[in-house]
Amino acid sequence: MKKLLDEAAKYLMNTYSRYPVILVKGRGSLVYGMDGKEYLDFVGGIAVNILGHCHPKVVVALQKQAQRLIHVSNLYHIEPQIKLAKLLVENSFADKVFFCNSGAEANEGAIKLARKYAKENISEDRFEIITALNSFHGRTLASLTATGQERFHKGFEPLVPGFKYVPFDDIKALEEAIDEKTCAIMLEPIQGEGGVRVPSENYFKEVRRLCDDNGILLILDEVQTGIGRTGALFAYEHFGIEPDIMTLAKGLGGGVPIGALLAKEKVAQAFVPGSHASTFGGNPLVCQAAIATVETVLEDGILLQECNRLGGYFKKRLYELKDEFSGIIVDIRGMGLMLGMELNRDCTQVVKACMERGVLINCTAGNTIRFTPPLTVSTEEIDQVVEILKDIFRRLS
Ligand SMILES: *Cc1c(COP(=O)(O)O)cnc(C)c1O
Repeated sequence: MKKLLDEAAKYLMNTYSRYPVILVKGRGSLVYGMDGKEYLDFVGGIAVNILGHCHPKVVVALQKQAQRLIHVSNLYHIEPQIKLAKLLVENSFADKVFFCNSGAEANEGAIKLARKYAKENISEDRFEIITALNSFHGRTLASLTATGQERFHKGFEPLVPGFKYVPFDDIKALEEAIDEKTCAIMLEPIQGEGGVRVPSENYFKEVRRLCDDNGILLILDEVQTGIGRTGALFAYEHFGIEPDIMTLAKGLGGGVPIGALLAKEKVAQAFVPGSHASTFGGNPLVCQAAIATVETVLEDGILLQECNRLGGYFKKRLYELKDEFSGIIVDIRGMGLMLGMELNRDCTQVVKACMERGVLINCTAGNTIRFTPPLTVSTEEIDQVVEILKDIFRRLS
């Protein structure tokens, strides 16, 4: 293992501060290190493994498709891609879908689509997009610029022109930021990387009203919240509104890299042959994995119900911890199985202690522990994690 870690340092670009662990296999909520150590995985590939590791439906879909056809060009029709688009359209606000390979790429597509739509349908000089402070939209140049956090921008200037930032969950600030140049408002329904921040109940209704009153498109970045994570297939369903454009990625493929850009017909029409493309986007292999994932999440609504039940139970147990350790835990936030626990300190120490005890959790926004276990997690597994956290907080206080 030491040799492999040395080779990692030698051959890989130093873009991640990784833990000295090599993960080799997984099943459900469990993942195993090369040294045989078992971990309860409440990171889930950062909200990707919505059905846990190596869900049999996803594995079989991949195996079958890998024997038939792995990749052809988007110059030709691909049956799994058509099937997946239909599945997403029939279960969302959208009429049309474009497939790509990641969240950042889906957001790039959304930015391009919004600009082209506004230029062609409203006015030539409508190109500005308003996003939220503490948002996260990806690492490519435009999605990075859309990301309202300076620490991610540093060193990569000049950024893409045409972005403006306002505080999240502040309708007044948004109203004041809108002008004759605004073409879209782009928001996460719940800020993930920003610390699992849920907006107040009426925020999105008011955002929608502002968009409608001013002829502005609403882009929802559901890369993290989508595909059942929050207890509804898409988080916008909780807020009683519909976007004009939505982006998906993380949970969509049950672990394989796939992103999607969804839009209403009138907006989607702005893209014509030549406007946008992706070589790998929506290839047969990833589409089969995504079909298996989305169908399993939707099956009788059982997993969505489970997500709400388990999320509610987990949240209740986290509140118990907060009561007991009020000197450490500041806040509990989130919906479904996208939960955050804000500490009054950096959470690195807690993350490390959990790892030693065989639990993987993730720290976001510096002081917020984020829990994104699979929707297939069990009450017992949640209890195990809570007990281990309790023990760690006891030692800390
Ligand atoms: C992770 C994430 C992205 C970026 O996705 P990548 O696949 O890493 O490019 C974009 N938006 C949100 C809300 C995310 O959580």
